[in-house]
Amino acid sequence: MTHPLLLPMICNMEQNTIENRLHQHGLRATLPRTIIMDTLSQSVGHYTIESLWRTVKATVPSIELSTVYRVVQAFVEVGLASEMHLPDGSRVIEATVKAHAHWVCQRCHAIEHITDDVMHGVHHMLKASVTSRDIQGVQITAWGLCQSCQSATK
Ligand SMILES: [Zn+2]
Ligand SMILES: [Zn+2]
Repeated sequence: MTHPLLLPMICNMEQNTIENRLHQHGLRATLPRTIIMDTLSQSVGHYTIESLWRTVKATVPSIELSTVYRVVQAFVEVGLASEMHLPDGSRVIEATVKAHAHWVCQRCHAIEHITDDVMHGVHHMLKASVTSRDIQGVQITAWGLCQSCQSATK
C-alpha cells in the first residue's frame, strides 16, 4: 500500500528514526503505525483518539478510527505511547517521553507539564515505601482551573 503524499517522507531521516523505533519495540513499520508515530512525535501535545484520527486523516484520508485505535493500543502495550485519564474520564495519548506529571484544566482541558523534579521525587518516595512490589510506572495528574477559566467563572 503506497500513498503519493507519503513519498517525500520516505526519503526523510525522520522516517528512518521512526521505523527504527518501531522495530526496536518489536513492531513492523506499517504505514498507519509510521504515520501515527510521526504525528505523535512531532507534537509535544496530547491527543484524544479522535483528535489524533483527525490529524492523521489530513495525510491519509482513508484511515479508519478503528485503525488509529488499534495502533495506539499496540504503542501503549510496547511503551511507545502513554495514555492518561483526565478527571472527566476521557483518555489522552502522547508519545512516551521522560516520565512527567500533568496539570489539566477541568474546564477547557488545557494540559501542561509539571517539572520533572516532581515526578522524580514521587518515584523515589514510592520506591522507598513500596519495597515488596514492582513499580513499572507512575502517573500524576493534578487538575484545577486555568487562569482564563478562572476569570470566566468570576
Ligand atoms: Zn481552562
Ligand atoms: Zn504529557
